[in-house]
Amino acid sequence: MHGERLARQIGLIGSEAQRRLSESTVAVVGVGGLGSHIALQLAMLGVGSLILVDEDRVEESDLNRQILYGYNDIGRPKVKAAAERLREVNPSINIRVHAERLTQSNVDNLLRGSDIIMDGLDNWETRLIINEYAVRTRKPFIHGGVDSYYGQILVVLPGRGPCLACLFPKPPPSRTVNIVVQTVALTASIQVSEAFKLITGLGKPALGRLIIVDSLKPTVEHIPVQRNPTCPVCGGLSHEP
Ligand SMILES: [Zn+2]
Repeated sequence: MHGERLARQIGLIGSEAQRRLSESTVAVVGVGGLGSHIALQLAMLGVGSLILVDEDRVEESDLNRQILYGYNDIGRPKVKAAAERLREVNPSINIRVHAERLTQSNVDNLLRGSDIIMDGLDNWETRLIINEYAVRTRKPFIHGGVDSYYGQILVVLPGRGPCLACLFPKPPPSRTVNIVVQTVALTASIQVSEAFKLITGLGKPALGRLIIVDSLKPTVEHIPVQRNPTCPVCGGLSHEP
């Protein structure tokens, strides 16, 4: 039930697209900067079910960009605080939480039932585990990453275009990035737009392109990218021409 909440949205997208949103299950891995913006927008759109994965607790240094949390949440598990906040904007949403780190050995269990997986992470090791899972299970995976004023987005549709490992075969070293909220919001919004298109069938997914945003100019650039036929993750998969 959503009463008047979605009236202005259904007027735009129609009830069939709204039904598809309400029947979809989206996993958000990492509910920090990107992930909290992504989860909030997905809840507001009326996505029926979310799976939230994050082992961290809220810290004061998160509050410049992690839109789901406030001072009262400091020290609490992020997935718990996030689920509470998301239910305030969408009381009928179904939320499954996992307050643990996603690994090679638990990825199948943590992401079971998901239709689409959203990258809200800040480390490449975990991203590449999800990329491998997405290719293996043929699920869409929407990568996002941010650093300073820059963000990047890649839509991975297994069997159609490159996977994350085609472009970034080796995880770059993890480091603490400095960041402003508007870069995070811009990047997360594009990730949500891509998920929205895949779920509803409206528009066309940004396939075969690495999207780079610069929140300071601002610009959104599309760089054509191709799959690597010898990619160890997706190289063996049959691809559409
Ligand atoms: Zn690949």
